Amino acid sequence: MGKMLKCRDVGVDCDFEMHGKSEEEILQKAAEHAKGCHQGVQITPELIAKIKGAIKSEGSSCCGGDPTCSK
Ligand SMILES: [Zn+2]
Repeated sequence: MGKMLKCRDVGVDCDFEMHGKSEEEILQKAAEHAKGCHQGVQITPELIAKIKGAIKSEGSSCCGGDPTCSK
């Protein structure tokens, strides 16, 4: 199960989406993206908290969590 974050969900007017396997991966990608794309944005503890709150799980279930599903 992966994680995803939309820049827009953190209050930035940007359609960029980050995908990763964990919160840490998303945070790392968000920091890199902000550096390149949102110069002037500081990665503060407050922003990190906001990002963590905006991270969503993706592909949580293809078949309602059926354990017999091979995916
Ligand atoms: Zn962005």
